[in-house]
Amino acid sequence: MFLSRLGRGTFAVAVLGVTAAACGGDPSDEAFTPRLTTEAPADDPPADTTTTVAAPESTTAPSTTTPGGTPVTWQRVSLGFVSAYVLARDGEAAVVDTGVAGSAADVAAALEMLGLGWNAVGHVILTHSHGDHVGSVGEVLTQAATATGYAGAADIPQITSPRELVAVSDGDTVFGLQIVATPGHTPGHVSVFDSPGRLLVAGDALNGTDAMGGESGGVAGANPQFTADLVAADDSVRKLASLDVDTILFGHGEPVVGGAADKLAELAASI
Ligand SMILES: [Zn+2]
Repeated sequence: MFLSRLGRGTFAVAVLGVTAAACGGDPSDEAFTPRLTTEAPADDPPADTTTTVAAPESTTAPSTTTPGGTPVTWQRVSLGFVSAYVLARDGEAAVVDTGVAGSAADVAAALEMLGLGWNAVGHVILTHSHGDHVGSVGEVLTQAATATGYAGAADIPQITSPRELVAVSDGDTVFGLQIVATPGHTPGHVSVFDSPGRLLVAGDALNGTDAMGGESGGVAGANPQFTADLVAADDSVRKLASLDVDTILFGHGEPVVGGAADKLAELAASI
C-alpha cells in the first residue's frame, strides 16, 4: 500500500531475480522528439486579453515534464532469463510484456509489491511478438479483465491474445507513456518511455550487457542472434539515444538505474 503512495520523484525499485539472455533491437529513420511542455515567458507585458497561466513554482522540478507529469513507479517481474515490468501511477498500472507462459502469478506478485491488484491494470503493452514476452498475455488479459492490450501493428498477427490487441504507433501515448517505434528486432517492436521519470522500457531493442555475456550495468544493442533486421535495429538504438533517459529496463539483463543516458549515447556512437 505504501508504495502506491510514493510521491513525485520516488521510485520503488525491487530486483527480484536474475536475468540473462537476449533478443534484439531495431530501426526507423525518423527522428524522435520528446514532447516538452511550453511555458509562456513570464515577463511578457499583459497587453491583451490573452490569459497567461503562470507556471507553478518548483524548487525540485526536473528539466522536462509532461502533462500529468508524475513519474511512474516500477516493479520488475524477473522470470529468469526474461523480465516483464509493472509501471504504476496514481493507483493504476500498466504491464509491459508478460513473460513466458505461466508468469501471471509473478506479475500478480509485482502488482502486490506496488500495493495493487489485477483490477488496477488498465493496460498491457507488448513490446514485440516473441514468446518470452507474450507467453502469458492470455493469462494476464484474463486476470486483468478490463485491461486493453497493445502491440505494434506489424507484430500483432504473430500474437495469440484472448482479446483483440490495439495497434500502437510511434508517438502514441498509453497511460501517459510514450510509445516509441523501435523496429528491427521484430518489424513491429515498440519501446515505452515515461518522460517524467526519464524511464525507458526497451523490450529487446536494447539489452543489459550481462545478457550479452558481459558484466551487468551496461547497455547493449539488439542481440544479432534473434534480430530480424540488424540495420533497422541499429537505427532504433540511435533513435532511443535521442530520448532523455536516465533508467533503462530491458527484456533481458539487469536494469540500468540512473546514468543510462551516457551509456546509451556511447552505444549509439559505436554502431
Ligand atoms: Zn525478442
